[in-house]
Amino acid sequence: MHQGPDQDRPLLMIPGPVEVSPAVREAYAVPPPSHRVPELIESFGRALGMMRRVWRAGEGSQPFVLAGGGTAGMEMAALNLVAAGERAVLVETGFFSRRMAEMLRRAGAHVTVVPAAAGDAPAAGRVAEALAEARRMGPVKALFVTHVDTSTGVLIDPGPLLALAREHGALSVVDGVCSAAGEEFRTAEWGADVFLTASQKALSLPPGLALMVAGDAALAAREALPSPPPLYLDWQAWRPIMRAYEEGTPSYFSTPATNLVVALEAGLAEILADGVEARVERHRRAARALRAAWGALGLNPVPARTELIANTLSALRLPPGVDLRILLGRIKEHGVIVAAGIHPDVEGGYFRVGHMGWTVTRPELLRRTVDAVARALADCGHGPGPGPAVAALEGEPD
Ligand code: PMP
Repeated sequence: MHQGPDQDRPLLMIPGPVEVSPAVREAYAVPPPSHRVPELIESFGRALGMMRRVWRAGEGSQPFVLAGGGTAGMEMAALNLVAAGERAVLVETGFFSRRMAEMLRRAGAHVTVVPAAAGDAPAAGRVAEALAEARRMGPVKALFVTHVDTSTGVLIDPGPLLALAREHGALSVVDGVCSAAGEEFRTAEWGADVFLTASQKALSLPPGLALMVAGDAALAAREALPSPPPLYLDWQAWRPIMRAYEEGTPSYFSTPATNLVVALEAGLAEILADGVEARVERHRRAARALRAAWGALGLNPVPARTELIANTLSALRLPPGVDLRILLGRIKEHGVIVAAGIHPDVEGGYFRVGHMGWTVTRPELLRRTVDAVARALADCGHGPGPGPAVAALEGEPD
């Protein structure tokens, strides 16, 4: 059996896709199954059931698995809930909330954006004001938030914002693409109407699946839409199919990504074997250790305040005089791939290191990452080199 990333290829530590476990690789690598054979149908059904548990969603909620990226999932959530002429409020925390705003505008919705500077998030009080203000003009259909904005590494606390949405009679949609199974989230308890994600992040699967769980109120809102959303994204088209898989009967609307479905079951089973809370705690511990290592290297986070720093990735400002391209190239030469920043408003440039999914269960991979970043920075004339950074990562006195 394959034991994980080889020493002879670089370790993939970008904010998705991420390294996957040997069990997931093995599951994914089977000859493509038919979507009509009992083994695949049963695997799909089990995966849907496990999604409710990983999402901590109610028993009556509906999981959806769709071939597509997280962007397809965002669009599915938006277009099943918000019709042209309806009102939505969106909490801006970076690149991906801007994308959601664009989708809603294209759907003809009136969108109130609660703005924040790059690396920051609006205070809950500002969101409350925006909801109240929008509501004076008409009912607010839904509030959209991004749990972790992958462009800046900003983590928000969704619970209070979802409560505000409820107070104002609005549904809530959480983009959990960079958080599901990596950050604390309780779909049912916090009353999220839709919590969506993609396969290639903290679920630690190959890219290619959009996944979400929708609650009763969200499903009812789809039924009440004045006109249906695009067919491929329509919950009504997919719901009987998802139900059939859970009931163990063959069904077809559009061919599922069967290898990914098998991998999904394997990946979710690993997370549940660990325990969702334990998995989230591993992300927290890894992030804390990495923050210590970045501190030892003199690297500053993009998020404006400590409580905004995500546990699934680090967005790190470039030290003065260090060239981004050269740095990323040197990190790769030292055996690790990390990513450039993508938010246009972060001055001075930054880079991002993903630490989510299976890798946070493997301390040696985090060590390899810190070692490569420290060596590359030293090559660029910055920082103390790997010794102090690895010591900080491991919590040892320097
Ligand atoms: N939302 C967030 C928070 C993301 O990080 C991403 C991808 N990085 C997306 C949405 C879009 O996902 P995809 O690239 O799979 O379409």
